[in-house]
Amino acid sequence: MGKRDYYDVLGVPRAASPDEIKRAYRRLAKEYHPDMAKGDKKVAEERFKELSEAYEVLADDEKRKIYDAYGREGLKQQVWGGQDFDWSRFTHGGDVRDLFGEDFFEAFFGRSPFGGSLFTDLFGGRAARRGPRRGRDLQVAVGVPLDELYRGTRKELQIPRAAPCETCRGTGAKGGRLVTCATCNGQGQVRRSQARGFSQFISITACPKCGGRGQWPESPCPACGGQGRIETTSTLHVEIPAGAPDGLQLRLAGKGEAGDPGAPPGDLYVVVRTLEHPPFQRDGRNVLVDWPITMARAVLGGDVEVPTLDGGARLRIPPGTQTHTVFRLRGKGLPDIETGRRGDELVRVVVRTPERLTSEERRLFEKLDSVTGDRAGDAGPPPPDRFG
Ligand SMILES: [Zn+2]
Ligand SMILES: [Zn+2]
Repeated sequence: MGKRDYYDVLGVPRAASPDEIKRAYRRLAKEYHPDMAKGDKKVAEERFKELSEAYEVLADDEKRKIYDAYGREGLKQQVWGGQDFDWSRFTHGGDVRDLFGEDFFEAFFGRSPFGGSLFTDLFGGRAARRGPRRGRDLQVAVGVPLDELYRGTRKELQIPRAAPCETCRGTGAKGGRLVTCATCNGQGQVRRSQARGFSQFISITACPKCGGRGQWPESPCPACGGQGRIETTSTLHVEIPAGAPDGLQLRLAGKGEAGDPGAPPGDLYVVVRTLEHPPFQRDGRNVLVDWPITMARAVLGGDVEVPTLDGGARLRIPPGTQTHTVFRLRGKGLPDIETGRRGDELVRVVVRTPERLTSEERRLFEKLDSVTGDRAGDAGPPPPDRFG
């Protein structure tokens, strides 16, 4: 049977845009879909195949150029390895899936309008292939001390995982040499059909020999025994952004476990945990510090040196400061992970009553006591338990 020009098949001009081609295909594919077509089903099937072949070529820039310049003969030579179009090469199954929804494929499996094999006739079973499995995702928690969160840091992680075998670059094949799987002829899947009443059920499963990959090591890689991966402890580095909130998850794409040969690896999720250390406590972007001061400094006022996440700062204590008064050091907290705006450090001063006195101190306190007696002023409100 002489094959028609692809543009004629789709009914579009040679200058048609990719969009026009897609629209034409969608409209015609619906019309000639074997389940919906009126009239002769055999004719509809042929027409549907013809449409899909034309679309396969014209929807692909590269193939379309070759077709425009050299016709179908050019495709045979340059794309299809000297052969006619082969349905196992049909890659636009996804577009058909869009067109009819997921149950398009079910329809072929379940109701088998053409002896149960149209699906595989049309698409070589590729669209339904359940291929090699992707690697597992991993999760690991990393504790980061507050002072490192202040500026951001880089952490080294030791991750026990199945990593791609370096010897065979994850292929599982000695020297990376793969051959077409003989069990499935490179299709990656095997088909089993079973008759039940008037229906024929077809199940397609991943090829048991190659696991759906369609290829098989000529001989297995000696380093990994053909697995393509090796249990190991990998050293990885992760950048912790400044101000990372507690529980932040960072994704390291592809750093999870290696997948089956030919499948992508999983991802690694790093959960950032805040490690508090005295005297610092975290409260969102703010940092809380309890800091002791002497009775004399509380009474007379003056500067005290207080710790901050970037070293230290001087804090001015006004005369007559009560215990548990909270002072704010602006901008000494953690940055917001998005805006970079820093929170504050809240210093709660705790007036310490000395328990051991030198003889000099004892003399001075006794003198003070003889002057003030038991006059302690108004009781006032009790000191707050928490930072204001
Ligand atoms: Zn196979
Ligand atoms: Zn290997």
